[in-house]
Amino acid sequence: MAQLDRRTFLAGAAVVAFDPVTSRWLTSLPENSAAIQIPRLDGELVTDEESLTEAATDYGHLAHHRPRAVLRPGSVDDVVAVVRFANEHRLTVAVRGQGHSTFGQAQADGGVVIDSRTLATIHEIAPDRAVVDAGVQWLDLIRATLTDGVAPPVSTDYLGLSVGGTLCVGGIGGASQHFGTIADNTLELEVVTGEGHLVTCSADHQPDLFEAVLGGLGQFAVIVRATVRLVPAPSMARIYTLTYPLITDLTAAQRTALADGRFGYLEGQLVPTDDDGFAFVLEGGAWFTTQPPDDDALLAGLDPSGIDVVDVPYFEWLNRIYETVEQIEALRLPGPWLNAFIPDAATDEIVTDLLTTLTPADAGGVALLYPTSRAPITRPQVMVPDGPVFFLLALLRAVSPPNGAEAERLIAENDALYARVLAAGGTQYPVNALHLSPADWRIHYGDRWPAVLRAKLRYDPRRVLTPGQGIFEDLSRASDTA
Ligand SMILES: Cc1cc2nc3c(=O)[nH]c(=O)nc-3n(C[C@H](O)[C@H](O)[C@H](O)COP(=O)(O)OP(=O)(O)OC[C@H]3O[C@@H](n4cnc5c(N)ncnc54)[C@H](O)[C@@H]3O)c2cc1C
Repeated sequence: MAQLDRRTFLAGAAVVAFDPVTSRWLTSLPENSAAIQIPRLDGELVTDEESLTEAATDYGHLAHHRPRAVLRPGSVDDVVAVVRFANEHRLTVAVRGQGHSTFGQAQADGGVVIDSRTLATIHEIAPDRAVVDAGVQWLDLIRATLTDGVAPPVSTDYLGLSVGGTLCVGGIGGASQHFGTIADNTLELEVVTGEGHLVTCSADHQPDLFEAVLGGLGQFAVIVRATVRLVPAPSMARIYTLTYPLITDLTAAQRTALADGRFGYLEGQLVPTDDDGFAFVLEGGAWFTTQPPDDDALLAGLDPSGIDVVDVPYFEWLNRIYETVEQIEALRLPGPWLNAFIPDAATDEIVTDLLTTLTPADAGGVALLYPTSRAPITRPQVMVPDGPVFFLLALLRAVSPPNGAEAERLIAENDALYARVLAAGGTQYPVNALHLSPADWRIHYGDRWPAVLRAKLRYDPRRVLTPGQGIFEDLSRASDTA
């Protein structure tokens, strides 16, 4: 999705006042009315049809909750002003980064959506860190850092996501086995709390806020700026694509590769075959700059039935699926995704059973399956199973041609599969189309729930932020504050 230049929007009809009686935003201030002038903004608050429609959709095209206004902030002060205004007038606020949620997570029914694409400055790139606005896309950051020979240690598979949106969920990829999530590699955040306080937090300064926000699904604060870790980057990637006849052969080989950490990147896929089944593929990446990796050492003990090896520039590898995703996105297909973290011991049984019914069409083409290590994942809000190893199963479903009933069927399948994963001690990676009630979210957080609730009461007591996640009861029902 394209970057927005806020100047592009300065010609639209801007909101200047809010009528608290009707909850309407007004583009002129009528005389003798109860309307309240909105604070002065560096950017713009708009209510035009196109902006509201865009803010009421996302990558999944399954949930459509219209806000009453969209803020295109021209500064961090604008975010502060609008969040404070929302507190005063009992409005909800959600940030929309790149809108790659699948089930309305970045939407705010009747509230205000903050479009973070206008906060997209890269402030600093040093050898070990970068300071960026939350609306920056990873693609732009990585392109810039690589010119200095550095890059984030972990990347998502797709780089067209915003920094803020990714830090809200965690951010996992093939290098997470070594470095944890992107949230684990975040050094400092500048945030606007749900009450509208601008705060800088880190592991040393306001650590409780820092911990709440990373992986915090937008519940406690708006991230406006982040300092993320950088490491020296290789110039090349050697990618090993290893094929297996059975899914359990794949998971066995992945466990072998994970155990000694031989690859810098380790993932895996269920790839559709001509006979409407799947081939099982391990994807391993080894980085190098001058000296190519030792193929024999990397392949030892993996015993694939097919091998493909290619060398590609490192950036090309990191950005490998960008164009494909843009093409899929243009089709506007319903995307009832399910991403689950399954304990190692339960993985083979769950995926083997799944394969008795899963078709390539149900999986949305490619499904991901790969193991990662628990140890480097330390942010408490990123809920992962106990045990040293767990697998990510990602069904990146897309309903083609669009069909509402079929999408509902797949969401119901997600619900059933999630119940099975939960029963086995697993968790969801919360970027999904699942029917989750506040009670389900309590189960998701388990022993951590009291800390989640405390953080909500402390940082967003009026429950202004990010209603689309559906984690807390409606404001009018106070049962979960007990
Ligand atoms: C094609 C594709 C590939 C993906 N690949 C991966 C992957 O490899 N690894 C992985 O971990 N995830 C992956 N994801 C999931 C992705 O990380 C999450 O959906 C992420 O939240 C999307 O970022 P976004 O900028 O589009 O966020 P949005 O969808 O805009 O927002 C996501 C949530 O974060 C909140 N939010 C956004 N910005 C802020 C902010 N600045 N402050 C506070 N709250 C905010 C929103 O309100 C919303 O609740 C992928 C998604 C897609 C569609």
